[in-house]
Amino acid sequence: MPPHPSRSLAIQPTSHLIIKPWSYLGEILFFPYTSPFRSTLSYPRSIMMIISRKIELDYGHTLPNSFSFCNQLHGHRGTVIATVEGRIIDRKGDPQEGMVMDFKFLNDIMMQYVHDVLDHGFAVWKNDHEDFEFITKRNKRVVITDEPPTAESLAKWAFNQIQPHLPENVALKNLRWYETPNNWADYSGDE
Ligand SMILES: [Zn+2]
Repeated sequence: MPPHPSRSLAIQPTSHLIIKPWSYLGEILFFPYTSPFRSTLSYPRSIMMIISRKIELDYGHTLPNSFSFCNQLHGHRGTVIATVEGRIIDRKGDPQEGMVMDFKFLNDIMMQYVHDVLDHGFAVWKNDHEDFEFITKRNKRVVITDEPPTAESLAKWAFNQIQPHLPENVALKNLRWYETPNNWADYSGDE
C-alpha cells in the first residue's frame, strides 16, 4: 500500500536536506546569480563532521585483584566504537567525496589493529605474573597491558592502536570499549 500522501510530504523535505545538502552544487554552478541556494556554496568546503564505526570481538581477560568474579579467567563479547572527526572531502570525483572518510577504511584499520590482534585471544596484565606465564605459554594471541586489562585499559589500548593509521584529515575523537552491553569505557586521549 502506498504511503499516505501527507506522510511522504512531511518526510521528504527533511531527509533531502539532511542527506544531500551538497547536491545543490550543480544548481549553484549553473545559476550562480539566481539560485536561492547561492549562500550554501561554502558549506561543503568548511563543514566538520563526526562519524563512528563499530566492530565486535571475543576476548578473555582476568582482573586478579578484583573482589568479584572478575578475578577468574573469563571471556567477553566486546564491542568497540571508534569515533573520528574531520572535514568533509569535497574534491570532485574523489571516491570519498562527501565523506569524512570511507567507513570501509575505518573498518579495515579497526579490524587489522584491534580485532585481528585480540579476537579469540587474551589480554593479560604484565604484573599478573602467574597468569602472564601461563597465558603467554598457552596462547599465540596475547595483548600484554601495563595496567589491569579493564574496559578502561583496553579502550586506551585500542585508541593507541588505531590513531597512527588514520588519514591526515581525520582525528580520533573517542574510543568506546564495551566489555558487556551494560558496561563500557570511553577514552579520548591524554590531555
Ligand atoms: Zn571481564
